[in-house]
Amino acid sequence: MRLILLGPPGAGKGTQAQHLVAKYGLVQLSTGDMLRAAVKAGTPIGRQAQNIMAQGALVPDDVVVTIVEQRIDQPDARKGFILDGFPRTVPQAEALDRMLAKHGLALDAVIELKVDEAALIRRIESRIAEMTARGEALRPDDNPDVLRRRLEAYRSQTEPLIAYYRRRGVLRSVDGMAPITEVARQIEGVLANVADAPRSVNRSVKPKAKAGPKRNASHLGKKSKTRRRASRKRPVPKVRSKARSEAG
Ligand code: ADP
Repeated sequence: MRLILLGPPGAGKGTQAQHLVAKYGLVQLSTGDMLRAAVKAGTPIGRQAQNIMAQGALVPDDVVVTIVEQRIDQPDARKGFILDGFPRTVPQAEALDRMLAKHGLALDAVIELKVDEAALIRRIESRIAEMTARGEALRPDDNPDVLRRRLEAYRSQTEPLIAYYRRRGVLRSVDGMAPITEVARQIEGVLANVADAPRSVNRSVKPKAKAGPKRNASHLGKKSKTRRRASRKRPVPKVRSKARSEAG
């Protein structure tokens, strides 16, 4: 199962991704988390990304494409993943198509969390206020001015992906303004209808528990043929020769 969660900052992608991790034992790949880890570790990518992120702009496509490509090649991501925060531009989506096509894989669904922008700003502002009141550290880009810039970046660079994935027939929209449990229910409804529907793992399994991936791995052999066949039916964009150079 390979999924994308699409929506503006504060739409609840991370919350829903964590729910899916716990329920289905999928791996969450958040480019925001990966970049923050790189910044913290002071790697060359982190040093390149730090100021860009603090200003609410987007890190260059080749940088994020490289980190995603490396990450989805890791063993825990082979059986599937949830992309949260990637792709964020059309060139990133094209690079992802090429990566997947190279491995004979396809996306199962792109889930758009539809939200109202004014409510979103209020949501993030109250989250910032709550965290400040609890004395918790804020992200450098968690402030109202930068948030507006992040929303602008979303509108101009990421929103075109809605049409991109709608054209490919994989876009599914859910109401991101509904309560968290209702959004989760709607997403589960979407997933129940995709060809490679995920199986629920024991609810008591924590997101990072080892049992999740292992348990799921046990049915991989049985399902892999179906998965490959299902993948072939879907429109997989053609691999272009530029793939490697853009990714590297
Ligand atoms: P948000 O809470 O805004 O959804 P994320 O945690 O996903 O934020 O990302 C934080 C910042 O990291 C973004 O504002 C951007 O600077 C950078 N970033 C994350 N993912 C990408 C990406 N796919 N492409 C470019 N920049 C990214």
